[in-house]
Amino acid sequence: MPGNTRLATALWCAEQGWPVHPLLPGRKTPLANCTACRTPGHTPAGCPCPAAHRWCHGFHAATLDTDRITRWWTDNPHHGVGVACGPARLVVIDIDTHPAPPPARDRIWPGIEIGDTVDLTGLTNGFDTLAVLAALRGQDNPAHDTSTLRVRTPSGGLHLWYRADTTHHWRCSSGNSPQRALAWQIDIRAHGGYIVAPTTTTPTGTYQPLDGSPTPAPLPGWLAAELERTGHHHPHIPHPRSPRRAPARAQQAVQAAGAGHQRITRIMTTVLQEINDCGRVHDGAGFTAVLNRAAYTLGGLVAAGHITQDAATQALREAAHAARPGQDRRSMQIIAGGMSAGLARPLTPGRRR
Ligand SMILES: [Zn+2]
Ligand SMILES: [Zn+2]
Repeated sequence: MPGNTRLATALWCAEQGWPVHPLLPGRKTPLANCTACRTPGHTPAGCPCPAAHRWCHGFHAATLDTDRITRWWTDNPHHGVGVACGPARLVVIDIDTHPAPPPARDRIWPGIEIGDTVDLTGLTNGFDTLAVLAALRGQDNPAHDTSTLRVRTPSGGLHLWYRADTTHHWRCSSGNSPQRALAWQIDIRAHGGYIVAPTTTTPTGTYQPLDGSPTPAPLPGWLAAELERTGHHHPHIPHPRSPRRAPARAQQAVQAAGAGHQRITRIMTTVLQEINDCGRVHDGAGFTAVLNRAAYTLGGLVAAGHITQDAATQALREAAHAARPGQDRRSMQIIAGGMSAGLARPLTPGRRR
């Protein structure tokens, strides 16, 4: 279970394979972006901040890198811990208890018809809608599922943590959304979202793990079927994880350029590793963004004379090929675009550009 400091919690999450990013002290929202990242029209795609170890763009900056995590939370021991659900392969069922009158009958369990004769007066929150959904499907109420990690929230809600299998990628939703929802007052945290780590404390209370399993169980089949039915399936072609040889590759490229600089090697390792990891967990758009950002960063190192353009291009091409073997031409276009943008912005570690 997570330890009793934020740093210990963050490291524990990373140990589970869950990338983490900081949250505002005492809040459940990410920290503000840097000034450059707040300019209108700026998007996470191609942004150099995450690769430069800045925490801009919330869960986009989430990392498993224990050095970075240690630095972030040693310097800022009061920052909360967010977990990026998509790359962590987590699906969290977020049960809310917001005091609000129920919506129209067709919006309570989207896709399930509720006859006018059914009395819904007892229905007050997400605990009720989830219990009814489980009963409808002949299943036990997941809110009482002690085989998985359950976390009580300061507002009296409950987070049910589950692991997605390797063939399915799930999308986020809000229980109030007309576009996609499992049930009223039930949010889904998955790709494109984050979740507050257990033991995080806010002024209103603690995200408190309940009795039962301290780690997430596999997502039950019937809940997967319900997510599928309600449009939560994220189209994705899974790729086997490529071997972790990014560090060696980075070392080689930096040495080839005669610039045996440790920080440069580390930056290269990080961006190549991100491409590596991304082949397994991201959809097409996510992969494009990561590859573009990596090329931008390495373009900056080339412009500052830390590595040669050939070495950078070769390293990016290899990492991209390992992650997405079927799309070399597309990858080269992304690399060329990102690199040419980066070449205009020389990057020297530790110095702002
Ligand atoms: Zn930034
Ligand atoms: Zn940015």
